[in-house]
Amino acid sequence: MTLISSIGAALPQVRENRHLIGGSWIAGAEWIERTSPSHGVVVSRSARGGEAEVTAAIAAARQAFDDGRWSQLSAKARAAALLRVADLIEARVEPLALMETLESGKPITQSRGEISGAADLWRYAAALSRTVEGDSHNGLGPDILAQVVKDPIGVVSIITPWNFPFWILGQKLPFALAAGCTCVVKPSEMTSSTTVMLGEMLAEAGVPDGVVNIVLGHGEPVGAVMAAHPDVDMVTFTGSTGVGRRIARTAADTLKKVALELGGKNPQVIFPDADLDSAADAVVFGVFFNVGQCCNSGSRILVHADIAQDFVARVVALTRKVTFGDPLDPATQVGAIVTPEHAARIDGYVAAARAEGAEVVLGGGVLEVPGLGRQFYRPTVVCGVTPEMAIARDEVFGPVLSVLTFRTLDEALALVNDADYGLSAGVWSENVHTCLTFARRAQAGTVWTNTWMDGFPEVTFGGVKQSGLGREGSHHGIDDYVEIKYLCLGDILK
Ligand code: NAD
Repeated sequence: MTLISSIGAALPQVRENRHLIGGSWIAGAEWIERTSPSHGVVVSRSARGGEAEVTAAIAAARQAFDDGRWSQLSAKARAAALLRVADLIEARVEPLALMETLESGKPITQSRGEISGAADLWRYAAALSRTVEGDSHNGLGPDILAQVVKDPIGVVSIITPWNFPFWILGQKLPFALAAGCTCVVKPSEMTSSTTVMLGEMLAEAGVPDGVVNIVLGHGEPVGAVMAAHPDVDMVTFTGSTGVGRRIARTAADTLKKVALELGGKNPQVIFPDADLDSAADAVVFGVFFNVGQCCNSGSRILVHADIAQDFVARVVALTRKVTFGDPLDPATQVGAIVTPEHAARIDGYVAAARAEGAEVVLGGGVLEVPGLGRQFYRPTVVCGVTPEMAIARDEVFGPVLSVLTFRTLDEALALVNDADYGLSAGVWSENVHTCLTFARRAQAGTVWTNTWMDGFPEVTFGGVKQSGLGREGSHHGIDDYVEIKYLCLGDILK
């Protein structure tokens, strides 16, 4: 396969990804090819796993957990290995970022940021591993000493999506490892390369064979077996709400623990007393970041009716300055849509809203990028959206902003909370009472006031309602991976 000239120099040959099972790299009888969304050429091929591979990977993880090669190491030793992984990631930002961009279509500068950010997640998790501690109760009577201790939960299945492949893996894998768990990882079939590249670093960093196993392939059967298998103690999943529901149902048969990071339809609410320039800037970033293919996308805004016209004009003016184009160009801010089918789905939402009476004030339709394919979508702003329209309720997952209006704080909160999702929400106002009332009453796992999408390893990430179960990040990020045991020492006085 010859790559087209713009990427041929950067990636001289198609990358080949194999499964990692018990420390061995296993090829497949069948392969899944990935075509770069922006350049239209095959950039990688990944082994297509079946039941045999995933069962072998679970067995390897089970054995590695049960024999204590990782779970029985001191937290200090585990932390040292995780820190070495972080160093290796940082040393390989460029090749990792290149593959992330070629498979996902996201701009190269953004990929570099996500890879470096993931290294920081590994460092943070390494620090956390040394903080796992329990309680000791010595007031229960003279001959009783009761302990509450935390143990690693066991074998963890990790299933990740295509939109932030390496970053989302960093929100899960180092935290599970920090707790002492062993893992089976399945990346999206569209963006497997950077997960496999990480697998290559683990042995180098001193993580024993079998502690992390990687199985490539489709949700069915690979992900489904990872959710069902009785030797798996927990499944952590980031992806769509529909698949998350299916995983929770499957995992219920063996009552394994489930952590879910799912979709969002995240509102930003703009009051007339806000700093409107800053708010417009955040709205444009919030909706076009990652071409809107982001669970935290600020895909609907609620603007006070008195300022709606002026505010939309500011958003449209700023949007015209955003650079959409070739993700390999360092000047590009917004890249390609992940697949042609997904681009058509985005367009379907815009067409339906138009047919229902909404006004497309900017964009709509394919964006032509000279020399590249047709998998780009124009930055789109839709006004006159009403709460019952699909574009106002569903996760469009594209560069499409829905604009609704309100008059009172109560009305804005009712619109915000009239949603199946509850991932994040934002408010823009100079009035601290407005901000605090909003923050307390908005049904969301994250509330931003006068900012959008700021996140750090030290704080939590996750949703309420149908946006998920559990929290990643912060010290809570390791709690998901521990089991709590009450340990009673009786008759201790002899
Ligand atoms: P998806 O649900 O289609 O796939 C996610 C992963 O699940 C992939 O690895 C896929 O192969 C696997 N999968 C598919 N069917 C499965 C099954 N039956 N059993 C087990 N695994 C299965 O999601 P996607 O299209 O890759 O990603 C986009 C979605 O992810 C969006 O809905 C987005 O909001 C969500 N997301 C959420 C967060 C968050 O943290 N809340 C972050 C990023 C993405």
